[in-house]
Amino acid sequence: MNALHSSVHHSAVFDHPEMGEHEDIIFAQDRNTGLRAIIAVHDTTLGPALGGCRVWPYENPSDALTDALRLSRGMTYKNALAGLDLGGGKAVIIADPRKDKTAQMMEAFGRHVDRLSGTYITAEDVGVSPDDMESVARQTTHVRGTRATGLGDPSPYTALGIFEGIKASARHAFGTEDLGERTVSIQGLGHVGFDVARRLHEAGAGLIVSDIHAPLVLRAMEEFGATAVDPTATHSAPADIFAPCALGAGLNATTIPQISARIVAGAANNQLQTPADGAALKKRGILYAPDYAINAGGVISIALAKPGGGDELVLEKTMAIGDTLAAIFERADNEGSTPERIADRMAEERLAKARSA
Ligand code: NAD
Repeated sequence: MNALHSSVHHSAVFDHPEMGEHEDIIFAQDRNTGLRAIIAVHDTTLGPALGGCRVWPYENPSDALTDALRLSRGMTYKNALAGLDLGGGKAVIIADPRKDKTAQMMEAFGRHVDRLSGTYITAEDVGVSPDDMESVARQTTHVRGTRATGLGDPSPYTALGIFEGIKASARHAFGTEDLGERTVSIQGLGHVGFDVARRLHEAGAGLIVSDIHAPLVLRAMEEFGATAVDPTATHSAPADIFAPCALGAGLNATTIPQISARIVAGAANNQLQTPADGAALKKRGILYAPDYAINAGGVISIALAKPGGGDELVLEKTMAIGDTLAAIFERADNEGSTPERIADRMAEERLAKARSA
C-alpha cells in the first residue's frame, strides 16, 4: 500500500466504530477565529436534527468526533422517545471554554450552522453560555433556547420531568406515588437537583443530599430540612429512591452493590457506565428510570418554546414523561427486559414507523 492509500485508510471516517447511520458529518473551520467544530446529524426521519453545541478542550479531533457521533445518536433517541417531531444531532467545538472561546468564534459557528439550512438546529450544552447562543443567533435562525426563542433556563422543566418520573417510578415499585413516607437521596444540587429537592420536599419526602459545593448543601439543609452526606456516600445512603443529579457513569460495578434504594431516578446523563450495569440493577431488584427518558424536560422546553408564547404545551409534554416511564416499566416487566433497553426499542419503533409511513 502506498503512502496515500495508507493515510486514506487511517482517516476513514466511514469505518469509525460510532459511525452508525449518521446522515451528515461536517468538519467546520474558520481561520480568523480558530474555530474547529464537528456537526453531526444522526437522523432526520422525524424532523430537523436538534441537539446542543458542546465546547470542550478535546485532546484530539478523534475524541471530538467520537463524542459528536455518540451524542448526536443519543439525541435521536431522546427526541423520538419524548414525542418530539425532531431528529437528532449535536455539535462539538474543540476549544477550552474558559481560554479559547470568543464571541467571534461562536458567530463563525453560527455561520456554519446556517449553511445547513435548518437540517441541524443548535442549542446550549456544556461549555456554552446564554451569551454564546446570542452570538450564534446573530448568524442563524436555526438556534433554540435564546432570549428571543426560548423560555429561558431549561432546568426547571428538566426538574419537573424528574419529579414526575420519580412519582411514576414510585407507583411502579411501591404501588403508590405518595412520597410522604419516602426518603430520597439526591446527588448534586445544581440547576436541576436543587429544584428536584424543592419539589420533593413540597411533596413531603425526606431528603438526603450531597454536593461538592458546600453552600448548596447548607441551603438545602436550611430550606428543606435535608440531611447532608458525603458525595461518595449518596448512592449508599439509607433512602427509598436515589436521584443522581450530578455527573454521569455513577452507576457502575462499584456503586451498584452498595445502593440501598429500590429506585434510581435522576437527571444526570449517561448514568450507566456500561450496558451490563443496567442488567446488574435489575438483578438487584432496583428499578432504573432510563436517563434520557426521565431528563427530557429540558429538550422539550427548548424544542417547543414559541417566541412570545406560553409554556402550556411544554408542561403537557414534560408531565407526559411519567406516562412514558410507566409504559417502559410495564413492558420491561412483561418482556423480562431492562427499562433502558425498552426505552431504546420504543424510540426505534417510532423511527421505524415514521420511515415506513
Ligand atoms: P449543574 O452543573 O448546575 O449541577 C451539577 C451539580 O452537581 C453542581 O452543583 C456540582 O457541584 C455537583 N456535583 C458535581 N460532582 C458531584 C459529586 N461527585 N457529588 C455531588 N455533587 C456533585 O448541572 P445541572 O444543569 O443541574 O445538570 C445536572 C445533570 O443533569 C447533568 O448530568 C446534566 O447533564 C443533566 N441534565 C441537565 C439538564 C438541564 O436542563 N440542566 C437536562 C438534561 C440533563
